[in-house]
Amino acid sequence: MKVEFKELKGNVIHDFPYPKEKRKCPHTVLISITHSGCCIHKCPMCYARAYPWSIEDRIVIYKNVPEKLETEIKKTKILPPFYLSQVSDALQPVSEVREITFKVVRILIKYKLSFHILTKSAEGAINLIETIPELIKYPYWYLGMTVESPPEKQAITSPYASEIEARFRALKKLNSYGIPLVGRTDPTILGFVEIPEVCYLIKRLADAGVQHIIGSLGYYNPLSMGRLLKKIELSKWKECIPDVEKIYGYHLDSIDNHPKRKRFIASVSRRIKFHSILRKEAEKYKLTYSVCLELSREYDSKGLLSCEGIYRNFVHIKKVNGKFYPINCCADCLSSCPDKINPPCGEKKLQSEYPYRLKTLN
Ligand code: SF4
Ligand code: SF4
Repeated sequence: MKVEFKELKGNVIHDFPYPKEKRKCPHTVLISITHSGCCIHKCPMCYARAYPWSIEDRIVIYKNVPEKLETEIKKTKILPPFYLSQVSDALQPVSEVREITFKVVRILIKYKLSFHILTKSAEGAINLIETIPELIKYPYWYLGMTVESPPEKQAITSPYASEIEARFRALKKLNSYGIPLVGRTDPTILGFVEIPEVCYLIKRLADAGVQHIIGSLGYYNPLSMGRLLKKIELSKWKECIPDVEKIYGYHLDSIDNHPKRKRFIASVSRRIKFHSILRKEAEKYKLTYSVCLELSREYDSKGLLSCEGIYRNFVHIKKVNGKFYPINCCADCLSSCPDKINPPCGEKKLQSEYPYRLKTLN
């Protein structure tokens, strides 16, 4: 696919857009290496590809992200954990994307900041460690790998990403280096992927050394659900379509008539049932489990500091010597502030400002 470079005009550092009322995610620094949807993996149900402003026919890379990021880091006094990337896979097999990702990672290591990378690229994850071996001992990061369907159904859910078995092998290798790992099984396209298949994925993730599982049934707009069902319709699994339609309230016959703003999500009772089973399954293997967004914290494993599950991604604050130091908090200001009256970050506003404004961090 054609690769283009572009200057990012706005701030690099930004939070999830969700307001306080709808919020479950901790404060996070999202880093977009590319424009939204510029991902060679082309998963049909991908929300990042389905925004009206997304670009899908080429990879548009923000070449100035590393320099801009360093300038912004120098001005901040508080930094929540970083996340690469919400809008495309930062380790997708496009050398120009990885080059920027690696530069960003080196900057985060230089300033000793917390981060995680989420990928579907087995080879990309290994390439990351081989390129930046200091990550093996770096204490403030983890890798998340998405394994969203059993191997035989990957042709539908992530046809151009690494094979599912290759993802398990990569996790095993990273685990042998001692790198902390999170497995994401989401989104599960219920009706197409069944609960016993997700249980199988959880077992395989546990065998591969993952410590925490994040799951969801997903949240789709007409474009992402339409793409997904069209793909299923052309496959040997087309008899699953009525079940998927029923679970998510979508009708393939009305593919061009769903209101653009309509969202498709499984019912609350179905979500509760699904996540209760999966949490039990994860805990059977001594893993922890959390639900991405679609249910409150009471459905996550008990005792988690945040839904990220791994106790490594701390908020860092800058001291008078200009260096960043971790504090005992994962930026989940709504649920897990260590001291609501005198927060150790020194910025009480973070308990109510969702998303945070960059000037609050400065
Ligand atoms: S890997 Fe992630 S960002 Fe890329 S297309 Fe798939 S879901 Fe979207
Ligand atoms: S100390 Fe409290 S207010 Fe400050 S970042 Fe942590 S959770 Fe949020």
